[in-house]
Amino acid sequence: MGRGSNLERVGGFNQAVVLDAIRRAPHGISRVELVQATGLSTQTVSNIVRKQLDLGLLNEGHKTVTGPGKPRTPLTIEPRSRFAVGVHLDPSVMTFVVLDLAGDVVARCRHEMPAVADPDTTVARMAAAIDGLVRTAKVPRDRVLGVGIASPGPINEDRGIVVDAPLLIGWQAVRLRESLRGATGLPVLLDKDVMAAAHAELWSSSRGENENFAFIYLGTGIGAGLVINGQVMRGASNNVGEIGHFSTGEDGPLCACGRSSCIGVAAMPAHLVETAVAAGVLEGPASGADPELISAAWVKLGALALQGDAGALGIVDASARRLARVVEDIANLMDVERVIFGGPMWAPVSERYLAVLQPTLSQRSAVSAIHDLEVIGSALGEDIAAVGAGCAILDHILAPKQMGLLLQD
Ligand SMILES: [Zn+2]
Repeated sequence: MGRGSNLERVGGFNQAVVLDAIRRAPHGISRVELVQATGLSTQTVSNIVRKQLDLGLLNEGHKTVTGPGKPRTPLTIEPRSRFAVGVHLDPSVMTFVVLDLAGDVVARCRHEMPAVADPDTTVARMAAAIDGLVRTAKVPRDRVLGVGIASPGPINEDRGIVVDAPLLIGWQAVRLRESLRGATGLPVLLDKDVMAAAHAELWSSSRGENENFAFIYLGTGIGAGLVINGQVMRGASNNVGEIGHFSTGEDGPLCACGRSSCIGVAAMPAHLVETAVAAGVLEGPASGADPELISAAWVKLGALALQGDAGALGIVDASARRLARVVEDIANLMDVERVIFGGPMWAPVSERYLAVLQPTLSQRSAVSAIHDLEVIGSALGEDIAAVGAGCAILDHILAPKQMGLLLQD
């Protein structure tokens, strides 16, 4: 079947440059316009376009005459020519998406993940879920370029290993990329969940190289993804954004690192739910409960705050203020124009958090005299990390830049 070989066949920097330019032109782009947009020669563009038409990656529209000179033939991406699978591995749930070449979700599903599962069983279930979803979506398997996995960090991306994901019990040093490659027969790429989320935002943005934002990811823990000049920042080991030990400036719960002002523990839904239970705002669950129960209690706490329950409001707003303090430092350090919040634990508190975060951060941006700081919630919803992991696969053929992520092929 030659699975994955498409990657090599459409590889190459110039080809990626051309495909990317076509993808970014919503109404299509002609060969002449491609020459102008890419700086490549007429002959090079013509050869690449011919090859990509042969591979079925492009559609050629009807010739139109819009003025003097040659008629214009617009080229567009053929969305159904290639697909990518994105998986988000979260302590409480696994999310799967199939993306077409345009980056649109064509199928999705979610599977509850048992709190204690051994990695081998989980990999087998992941492979079965991917098979099922690809079949449901009626996507020819030989058009699936690969599987991107978004995992809680830290990860050893070089070796495709999930190092020691908090709350993924039994997941120390799991060779996820290799195992899933074996189980699916597809190329597999591993990325950190926060990076994947930032990647998804970047894909849906039209600002290209002018994009500068911090993505604050609220999950079981907290992390940041950074996009500077249109590139996801990756660092020495693809682990940029470990902000869990940034100081809130307040005394709070004791962190594993020995300090008691770390945002990581202070902003954890598990800690805030525990605080709410201790204050009589919530009836349960008891501390140490598994992720599903914490998640349900977190939704309840957010809802109570929205209804104006004084106890819940106090806890949620204080948490948002602590978060603002940390995000202010990140925004100032990176000179970003936008801060985007999202991740699986964002939705229940988004309204209250934004009410606190927006005024605080806008006023406290050190460069506010030069440019505004936009503070928003992500529009991509709970699939965001899975979508971003799929986008990383598409980037291997579409994006004219060194990705920095390894594909197990
Ligand atoms: Zn700490």
